[in-house]
Amino acid sequence: MTLEFDAVVVGAGHNGLATAVHLASRGWSVTVVEKASAPGGAVKTAEATLPGFRHDLYAMNLSMFAGSPFFASHRDGLLKHGLELVPSRDGFATAFPDGTWLGVSQDIETTTARIAALSAADARNWRALMDRFGREAPHIFALLGAELPSRAAMGAVWKAWRALGVAGVADIAKLVLSSPRAFLDAHFEHPKVKAMLGAWGLHLDFGPDVAGGALFPYLESCACQSFGMVFGRGGADTIIRAMTGYLRSLGGDIRLDAPVEAIEIEGGRARGVRLASGERLIARRAVVANLHPKGLAKLVAGRAGDRRPSDFAAKTAGFRAGPGTMMIHLALNGPAEWRAGADLGRFPYVHLAPDFGTMGRTYNEAMAGLLPAEPVLVVGQPTAIDPTRAPEGHHILWVQVRVLPADIRGDAAGAIQARTWDEAKEAYADRAIALLETYAPGLSAKILARAVHSPLDLERDNPNLVGGDSLSGSHQLDQNFLFRPAFGWSKHRGPADGLFMVGASTWPGAGTGAGSGFMVGKRLAGEARPAR
Ligand SMILES: Cc1cc2nc3c(=O)[nH]c(=O)nc-3n(C[C@H](O)[C@H](O)[C@H](O)COP(=O)(O)OP(=O)(O)OC[C@H]3O[C@@H](n4cnc5c(N)ncnc54)[C@H](O)[C@@H]3O)c2cc1C
Repeated sequence: MTLEFDAVVVGAGHNGLATAVHLASRGWSVTVVEKASAPGGAVKTAEATLPGFRHDLYAMNLSMFAGSPFFASHRDGLLKHGLELVPSRDGFATAFPDGTWLGVSQDIETTTARIAALSAADARNWRALMDRFGREAPHIFALLGAELPSRAAMGAVWKAWRALGVAGVADIAKLVLSSPRAFLDAHFEHPKVKAMLGAWGLHLDFGPDVAGGALFPYLESCACQSFGMVFGRGGADTIIRAMTGYLRSLGGDIRLDAPVEAIEIEGGRARGVRLASGERLIARRAVVANLHPKGLAKLVAGRAGDRRPSDFAAKTAGFRAGPGTMMIHLALNGPAEWRAGADLGRFPYVHLAPDFGTMGRTYNEAMAGLLPAEPVLVVGQPTAIDPTRAPEGHHILWVQVRVLPADIRGDAAGAIQARTWDEAKEAYADRAIALLETYAPGLSAKILARAVHSPLDLERDNPNLVGGDSLSGSHQLDQNFLFRPAFGWSKHRGPADGLFMVGASTWPGAGTGAGSGFMVGKRLAGEARPAR
């Protein structure tokens, strides 16, 4: 029997689920087909080490989701299906090798006092930057929520011009083009302030001197100051559990362990999908692919009589991955005790990225194919804000190792001989934990169990994470905005009529904001002007 739906969504990442939820809420019959045995893609939570220890395998910070138009539109349905967000007034901090720390908390007086202890000028500049953010944020977020190019995007620029003037729009343009170092040097004088803010560049793939890298540190830092940070109760997968529950309640359907082998195109129009099992699912109105463009190109390859699939494959063949990521999950019998002081234990994110010199070296080594001598670490402390993630008295750490090569050509420290990730990952995790131990002495003795997921493991679990690239495609300027995933393909139209693309590889890119999924859901539901 061949089943028919209005829409078939390929991939149960949060963007595919956002499209599915929105369409189902508008009366469409929808099925989501997912190759993995659990939904969520890069948002999954599992007992990766020991029973009772719930680790966010990938994304942990849900601030983008909490601030998203998708959440604003579907809030009631999601809350009804169990969504529980945990806000944190303490956001992110950097620990420094001299035993000090600096961090951003939602109370501006607190943050400013910390900065003022280093530089009175920087404390004034921080307040000035927050004022600027207040003026610019509505315009920047309006642009991030619009198709590019589109009338809505032009409207956002027009409104920005009316509100901020030419000079104000030029300031935003300059910010968008700047490297983290150029932007932060222009605004602050103390190296610790710059390092604390610039570390966000390496969450994407921006070493300190890469053009285009200033925007994310600006947005993340200022948003954290304004709104705090947001996490999931019991795990980041609270959004996935809520979306899947809500979708099912609306009559939608999710099939797991169901890899799609081909998207069927007839007469230039996507008609449905063929699963690896041989089963076919017909899509009467749309096929929505929550896929990396190279994955999508494979699924539409070889369709005779239509040049669009091969044009698409050619245009996206050069879509570059960002550097890889390794995840280390630790189950602990006590909290990390930071040399910099117990207050640091309240921060959900602690960066070990002490200065631009270290960040630049690490980035360059990874880009040259070397295992960095000193990794940059994002140390997540989920149990600081959500004790339900571990048995009483116990803790977990979420350690994201940024940035790493997909293919190992050597070791910048000259110590690790292995050249495959399966052989190198435990030794490299030892290096990361040894570094962490210098900031949190005694940590190693508290580790009950650890799970190490190399860049290759990330890609094995989710083919969208090519080479362990957490962004599903570099976010540098030549692959962002009109160029994501390629010029001419930025508006979420796939290489056939009725075929749409969502996900981190498409505008507005990576993160848990469900931006592309919601844009496409609204467009298909006739609530947004169709992109031409
Ligand atoms: C380690 C890590 C940490 C991160 N941390 C954060 C964070 O803290 N905060 C944040 O905002 N963002 C974070 N991100 C980024 C964010 O998680 C991702 O950008 C986002 O979740 C991607 O969502 P997506 O909708 O593009 O789909 P994906 O999550 O990529 O999911 C796509 C799904 O499609 C499935 N699929 C692929 N091919 C097929 C096929 N042929 N047939 C069927 N199914 C298929 C995959 O199995 C997958 O489940 C992180 C990412 C990683 C990897």
